Amino acid sequence: MNTTAIESDVVRNAARGAWLSVLDSLAPELERAIENPGRRHIGCPVHGGNDGFRLFRDADISGGGICNSCGAKPDGFSLLMWLRGWSFPEALSAVANELGISTDSNHKKPIVKRKPVAFDNSKSSVDDAKLKVILRTVWQESKPISHPEAEPVRIYLQSRGLDSFIPDWPSIRFHPNMQYRDEDGKLIGHFPAMLALVEKGNEAITIHRTFLTQDGRKALVDSPKKMMPALSNKLVVGSAIRLGNPGRVLCVAEGIETALAVLEATGMVTWPLISATMMSQFLIPSGVEKLIIWSDLDRSFAGSFAAQKLAERAKAQGVEAVIREPKGPLPADVKSIDWLDVLNQQGPNAFALRSCA
Ligand SMILES: [Zn+2]
Repeated sequence: MNTTAIESDVVRNAARGAWLSVLDSLAPELERAIENPGRRHIGCPVHGGNDGFRLFRDADISGGGICNSCGAKPDGFSLLMWLRGWSFPEALSAVANELGISTDSNHKKPIVKRKPVAFDNSKSSVDDAKLKVILRTVWQESKPISHPEAEPVRIYLQSRGLDSFIPDWPSIRFHPNMQYRDEDGKLIGHFPAMLALVEKGNEAITIHRTFLTQDGRKALVDSPKKMMPALSNKLVVGSAIRLGNPGRVLCVAEGIETALAVLEATGMVTWPLISATMMSQFLIPSGVEKLIIWSDLDRSFAGSFAAQKLAERAKAQGVEAVIREPKGPLPADVKSIDWLDVLNQQGPNAFALRSCA
């Protein structure tokens, strides 16, 4: 029985002091954070934004890091599980592989039963209780998008080239006076904001916010799109912003605005999944028989990879998956194109399914 513990300890010990190179191979998207652990903030690889994530200063020893919204990942294993949607045994064997340690496959089964360490200490439950109240309060203070006061959201959508009239989904709301704090927790100001409920199954996980100005522009803050923290026992990975109820067909996209563009052009229920990482790990609701993935076309191909990964997972579950990617190549000065760009540049006809001849 102890063999499994010993085996994971072997890998754990070997990884101590080697985590930066392990992460460099297994999580290359962290490259800039790896160059300067503890100091350099980067956009969260899971939920996006500009600067919410950093590795711990001792990351070469611990492998850990923290996103201000998604929470702390105390070691390299939990960090990889979060980034890749891996189970503990999967993370363990990837790290072992990276370090050249062979794992005996006979030992894999018992490890499966070993739950990752819960980070549940008294401090985080106190924080959780507080956070629950904050999330509930923010949501209660919000108003439907059709409310007269929600004008900043409607102007914002219009300025992005979208129809300002959107269905009154319960999961998109307007907050007149949303507090913005920087990455150090310092209060910067209060802004009107578009709120979106992030849910997994029917469980609320957290709230995504788009900070605006009164006249409907993106607020001039470091990260105008920001998720609120999630409770320590809730993983953001796998969740979605549920705009409408899917039938047999569900469309998904990365951004909220991109999803609205797909809805506007096609009339199909489209859920934003927030980021490429979250897209790749989206939990497909039961009853969905076909998934249409409206991916971004990025210079880094992050969007394409995420779409492919989700399509593979869909197919493995017996769900038909179709990837729709904007037509390349990208102009030299453009980092990415999404379907909102397509709607604005080519109109809704560009969304029509090509003939399958
Ligand atoms: Zn995050």
